[in-house]
Amino acid sequence: MEKCYKGRALKPMKQNPSKKGSIERGSTNRKRRLDGQRSSSTRRSKRHENRNTKEKQNSATILSWLIDSQIVPESATIYYTGATTQAGFKKGTLERNGILCTCCHCIFTIRDFHVHAGGKVCDDPYEAIGIDRIRGDGSITPLSQFMETALRNRNEPEHHGIKHIPTKGFGDDVYDDACILCADGGNLICCEECSSTFHVKCLGMKVVPDEPYYCAYCACKICGMPVIKRDSSSLSCSLCEKQYHVKCSNESLTIDVNRFPRAFCDKSCRKVHEKLESKIGMKRELQDGLSWTLLHRFDKEYGSYEVMASKRLECYSKLAVSFRLLTACFEPIKDRHTRINMIRNVVYNCGSHYQRINFSSFFTGILEKGDEIIAVATIRIHGTNLAEIPFIATAERHRNKGMCGKLLNGIEHDLRDFGVSTMVIPSSSETIRVWNEKYGFQLLSERTKKQIMKLNTLMFHDCIRMQKTVTGYPNSFDRSL
Ligand SMILES: [Zn+2]
Ligand SMILES: [Zn+2]
Ligand SMILES: [Zn+2]
Ligand SMILES: [Zn+2]
Ligand SMILES: [Zn+2]
Repeated sequence: MEKCYKGRALKPMKQNPSKKGSIERGSTNRKRRLDGQRSSSTRRSKRHENRNTKEKQNSATILSWLIDSQIVPESATIYYTGATTQAGFKKGTLERNGILCTCCHCIFTIRDFHVHAGGKVCDDPYEAIGIDRIRGDGSITPLSQFMETALRNRNEPEHHGIKHIPTKGFGDDVYDDACILCADGGNLICCEECSSTFHVKCLGMKVVPDEPYYCAYCACKICGMPVIKRDSSSLSCSLCEKQYHVKCSNESLTIDVNRFPRAFCDKSCRKVHEKLESKIGMKRELQDGLSWTLLHRFDKEYGSYEVMASKRLECYSKLAVSFRLLTACFEPIKDRHTRINMIRNVVYNCGSHYQRINFSSFFTGILEKGDEIIAVATIRIHGTNLAEIPFIATAERHRNKGMCGKLLNGIEHDLRDFGVSTMVIPSSSETIRVWNEKYGFQLLSERTKKQIMKLNTLMFHDCIRMQKTVTGYPNSFDRSL
């Protein structure tokens, strides 16, 4: 407690005359580029443009990612290793968008080639298909090993676990330079417990409070009193991330021998979390050969949790491909205080001890056709009231075909199933009309504004938040359950 009072006495208000937001971008002209809308004023450097042109032609697939990471050579010969008879033996050529079969000259997805070659649908194609390389003794190295190698690259998800991210260049100033709610600077009040800062007006207050201020993540979600973190008398909810006193909640810890225990502040958070978890890695078929899947990095906390372990490699690899797709669509976004790459940390759901940049409960939704990822969206659910979708983008070569809408529909369908009522996005002023006319988003209602005051949602300087009530809510969800 001593630290808190000292912090408050020395620094009751944070002065930041530069009025800069906490998010720094490569260009002030950056816009969120949506499906069906190309931003002509988003300029990249020559180097970026060259890279971008190359990325436009490439399809966002695991094979393309392995080729670009220089893990496998383009046009390498691919073998199916699972055949028991000579008749079942198939080989093909590795291409960016699939495998070109030698026998029929058709391009197959990895999974379809596996079946075409006689593999069982339930078997792992990344294990059964491989390349005659590296060992030089004629033995085949399965694709899964190349994926493991690619993931060991320092930019990939394997390297971005929960860790303490140090602030740079700000001395002992641990407080944020920008309001967590609007991402703007100026006169800010600091939380007694964490590094978050706020504008008085963003909190809906008229004057600076006399008492020490505890933000919504440092006070018990149930009784509202401050919680002392890392104290066994309080827990953090695995879904909404809010703290609560153990004595205030009726929910008990979920213990599973293979995993870390999970805590939930109430029944609805537990229910959403259970449903959400059951959907990870599950491919949902849509029309026209499209499908959509929710991805999440589940780290070592899942231990030997079997279903997850078998999907881990494919899931991580697709997250790496998704990160590349989003990177090609947005100007670089760095957190001003910590210099972290925001898109990467969100897609790889990296945690942090700083609440503002703790992205551990983010999920990534992908729309696929065959092996190609066409559109990507990042989602975080803050309990049953609200889900935020800070990034959504369609690969350049698939724009103007309604792909973004198809992915949003899939997400909305799940949110309805989870019992979540509202989706919130940050929009630049130029894209408000598109979000409204094409996707039915509106400016925030007073009720949502009040809810957001108590939430840690990702916000960008100069953006405006918009909301949409999940279609069909609450009729299709029995709230009495
Ligand atoms: Zn064939
Ligand atoms: Zn603010
Ligand atoms: Zn706080
Ligand atoms: Zn309490
Ligand atoms: Zn909760």
